[in-house]
Amino acid sequence: MKTATRRLDAESIKRDLAPCDFYRAELPTMPPPKRFGWADGGLCPFHNDNRPGSFRVNLESGGFKCFACASSGGDIIKFLMLRDGLEFSEALKTLAEEWGLA
Ligand SMILES: [Zn+2]
Repeated sequence: MKTATRRLDAESIKRDLAPCDFYRAELPTMPPPKRFGWADGGLCPFHNDNRPGSFRVNLESGGFKCFACASSGGDIIKFLMLRDGLEFSEALKTLAEEWGLA
């Protein structure tokens, strides 16, 4: 049975929000990406980073990886959870609100 209100779920958020757009908005020090796939994400938000080059983001899958502090994760939802200390459902809500996906 379907409900009238749209359920907030990870699948629809990830379908509607391109990792490329997300990371370019969330990572102010990220250089303009030259291509899709893994790109330089600028300074790592997970450690006190002052040397760009260690933090990479995947503009297709939303994955991220830091070679300096070993932060790595699955997708943009995990990124937000780790960076802002959010629960899964809080991260979904934040994404939906900030990107008008709700
Ligand atoms: Zn790091």
